[in-house]
Amino acid sequence: MKKNIAILGSTGSIGTQALEVIRNHPGQFGVEVLTAMNNCDILIRQAIEFSPNAVVIGNKDCYPKVSEALKSFPIKVFAGEESLSQMMEMDSIDLVISALVGYAGLKPTLAAIGAGKNVALANKESLVIAGELVMAEAKRKQVMILPVDSEHSAIFQCLAGESPAEVEKIYLTASGGPFHGRKRADLLNITPADALKHPNWSMGSKITIDSASMMNKGLEVIEARWLFDLRPHQIDVVIHPQSVVHSMVQFIDGSVKAQMGLPDMKLPILYALGYPRRITSGFARLDFGAYPKLTFAPPDKELFRNLALAFLALEQGGNMPCILNAANEAAVGAFLSGQIGFLAMPDVVEHCMKTSSFVKNPGYDDYVTTHLETIERARNFINQS
Ligand code: NAD
Ligand code: MG
Repeated sequence: MKKNIAILGSTGSIGTQALEVIRNHPGQFGVEVLTAMNNCDILIRQAIEFSPNAVVIGNKDCYPKVSEALKSFPIKVFAGEESLSQMMEMDSIDLVISALVGYAGLKPTLAAIGAGKNVALANKESLVIAGELVMAEAKRKQVMILPVDSEHSAIFQCLAGESPAEVEKIYLTASGGPFHGRKRADLLNITPADALKHPNWSMGSKITIDSASMMNKGLEVIEARWLFDLRPHQIDVVIHPQSVVHSMVQFIDGSVKAQMGLPDMKLPILYALGYPRRITSGFARLDFGAYPKLTFAPPDKELFRNLALAFLALEQGGNMPCILNAANEAAVGAFLSGQIGFLAMPDVVEHCMKTSSFVKNPGYDDYVTTHLETIERARNFINQS
């Protein structure tokens, strides 16, 4: 039986790689829904190739172009962010790939869970913002959240057949990004173009900047806390510049399991789509001869303060990770537009964490308010600096 897939964010880096996986396994997967924000040309091309039941273009201004281009195809066309969430109700969807970037992923991901769909989750921000709520909803609806993030897929694979009570801790590996090993003075004049050059992975711009600033790893620490129900002290980060060991689990007997593979997001995507079975792939195989040396080192949390701030937000709990995420979204936007320097990004995050109102037991509306207020607070801070 074919699994019918809906992709939230099909035109992005994860979305297009997911479609590549689906293209290579036509007997196993079908496409039900494709969605994008602005990129109507790619969305139209994808719709014509994969014949989904429906497409959604987030930006309503793009609706006339998409509906005109698809008018001779049996494909329904919708527009607006509300339609993203409504579309998740379709009975014919078996699995939703959540590959939107940032806060925009939270509502449709919750809608997919609410509609009783299993979710292959790339949008880590939804777990950072509202991990407790998302996981509680998934439990209530008895749906699976299958990690797509390579580190979390690695942990998930290492945990197969193991008892959660026998896990001592996990190690998330980090490439260290393009600036690993640099000194503070080297980072003062980093441009967006420098930070967008990731050594091992080709990804969307937000996660590429997050990788350079180590915020990506901070967000992943929080993501892991919720996915695997861990305490903060059970999560550690190790710099591994070769990106071949994707993460590790240490058990109570001292034994450590690691998952390895080439740095290719199609691998964790295929694992999530095929779960609980592995699916044959033609992907390039890991040639151990090409990696004579694998290295591991502790992260520099003093220079890359974002990582320390993420651990702090996790310890504080409540809406603090939501504040961290929103401040970071504003900071990344300001860095990319040349408004602030690379080293100012953690200043924005720290300012918002220190000055925003803390909510101990937030509900969905508190997360929305916290996000919007923090974006505002961060922008004011950026404009004054
Ligand atoms: P991207 O910027 O390449 O793509 C984002 C997609 O979301 C696009 O299709 C865009 O049209 C859509 N989108 C953005 N805002 C939207 C909105 N408001 N409404 C509707 N659609 C919207 O991002 P990406 O690199 O593919 O990353 C997606 C998610 O996956 C992020 O959370 C990222 O952290 C995570 N992730 C990515 C990678 C990677 O290799 N790219 C690896 C691990 C995790
Ligand atoms: Mg990752």
